[in-house]
Amino acid sequence: MGWTRIKQWGNDLLRIIYPEVCEICGTSLVTGEKILCLNCDLNMPRTKVHNDNFNIIHQRLAGSTPINKAASFFYYYKESDYATLIHQAKYNNRPYIAYHLAQKFAKELIGSNFFDGIDIILPVPLHFLKLIKRGYNQSVAIAKGISAITAIPVGDNLYARQQHSTQTRKNSYERWVNAQGIYAVKNPEELANKHVLIIDDVITTGATLLACCNAIHQAEPTATISVLSLSVTHLQ
Ligand SMILES: [Zn+2]
Repeated sequence: MGWTRIKQWGNDLLRIIYPEVCEICGTSLVTGEKILCLNCDLNMPRTKVHNDNFNIIHQRLAGSTPINKAASFFYYYKESDYATLIHQAKYNNRPYIAYHLAQKFAKELIGSNFFDGIDIILPVPLHFLKLIKRGYNQSVAIAKGISAITAIPVGDNLYARQQHSTQTRKNSYERWVNAQGIYAVKNPEELANKHVLIIDDVITTGATLLACCNAIHQAEPTATISVLSLSVTHLQ
């Protein structure tokens, strides 16, 4: 067997792990493109809300906890092609989709003041039993993508102390009740006077993020909290 053959096998293997086609339209990606081709990138329904002091995410998270800054890359429309990016990253063993989309988002945000003053990135945690079952936490992949561009460190100070029962088929209030008390902070003193950026994949009712924010503020009231997600549902 010649080297060419081995090399080709290697390339084919890489292609299986790393498909070099657009996740939306299936056209081959050219050098410099990741996950999306230029056309699908341009058509992504970006929210562009990160400069608003009270945007759709602040509204969704309006509750007992003040939120400093809030950003979300694109609107999540059920059944849309872009929604499948989130599903692939979350359930289909392809966290690198979340990682590269997060890098793309961070590159677009870095020219604004969004990341100014943020000390640490904390992904929404998965309960360890779920983590074992899924093998990865998609929010960690997003956090690492943001960190790769901004050099802000990713922490693991938030953890899920209870298993989350499924949120689908619950209304907003039921989701909120269901999420309360699930998350906790390991070392509150590490968050004293720190500005924390909490990361989630998709914001629907905001119940999960609110539960994380409440856990942080209850453990360490001096922490400032901002949030970032890859997507946010447009309407509830
Ligand atoms: Zn495309």
